[in-house]
Amino acid sequence: MEMALKNYILKMLAKLSPEERQEVISYFLDSELSNEIDLENTINKIRESRFNEGLVCPHCHNDDIIKHGKTNKQQRYRCKSCERTFTDFTGTPIEQIMKKKEFFHSLQCMLEGKSLPETAKEIGVSIPTAFDWRHKVLSALKKNKNDKLSGLLEVDDTFFLHSEKGNPNLARKPRKRGGKAKKRGVSNEQVCVIVGLDRDGNSISKIACHGRPSANDIDKVLRIDEDGEMLLCTDKHPSLGKYAKMNEFKHIELNLSKNIRVIKNIYHIQNVNSYHSRLKEWLRRFKGVATRYLDNYLCWFDFVDRAGRDIKKETAKRQLMTTVCSSAAA
Ligand SMILES: [Zn+2]
Repeated sequence: MEMALKNYILKMLAKLSPEERQEVISYFLDSELSNEIDLENTINKIRESRFNEGLVCPHCHNDDIIKHGKTNKQQRYRCKSCERTFTDFTGTPIEQIMKKKEFFHSLQCMLEGKSLPETAKEIGVSIPTAFDWRHKVLSALKKNKNDKLSGLLEVDDTFFLHSEKGNPNLARKPRKRGGKAKKRGVSNEQVCVIVGLDRDGNSISKIACHGRPSANDIDKVLRIDEDGEMLLCTDKHPSLGKYAKMNEFKHIELNLSKNIRVIKNIYHIQNVNSYHSRLKEWLRRFKGVATRYLDNYLCWFDFVDRAGRDIKKETAKRQLMTTVCSSAAA
């Protein structure tokens, strides 16, 4: 850029109010996520991440590999040991997808929180295709999420109305969108999601059961790294108390009804509570998620929530692509 022009821009920027400056910054941060997918570059990145320990045959894991021409513009390799051929995507969930460029574009739409109809329209595929792709991505994310909790844990439950949205074999009349449960309080019409967070940023959120969870339901959901001592922070919740006893964890119970929210400045469940409210707020855009897909969406929320917290959009995009494209076939 010409020096004079650059100086002029800097001079103009200096005249902006703090709010206007923030707008300019947001503009550049957003435009970082350019809409043009550079297919070759994307595939290169995926290859480097998938074969980060060297090129090996996905069939027999031998490393005596030679190039073997191209099919559909995609590099093919041949293994000299088992004599089978493969591409950069063999054995991954997206092996069968022909429209790779459109698929990568759909990942971007997901990161931007676009709905299925919006995504389908923007990339020029049908809604069922966009749906199929989205769930391939979500299952891969779920499969790759292996967080274990350790140290000080905040655990709480939250409830969602059971939904069979999109299921043609409904056992009963469909509820109107955003409907209410017939029974008051927690019943089997409600799906219990257990969320556990530790203070190192590990998180688990998963469906535990229908209705109120037992200590065993909770135990099945929470993956614990039991190397160190565990300390559980919860509100008054009989099953969480039993769960702590059952596993011999230290347990600190906050009596929220007596307005005891924090003990010794460190024992509280405010992180898990704020996670719940961000989750509910985020899920609202989908206007009800079918219960059988809820676990997928919980993983998806966890990914975007982290991306919002501490990774840049461009990094999030790359992470999503490599997670989906390098995970073993579903
Ligand atoms: Zn082989």
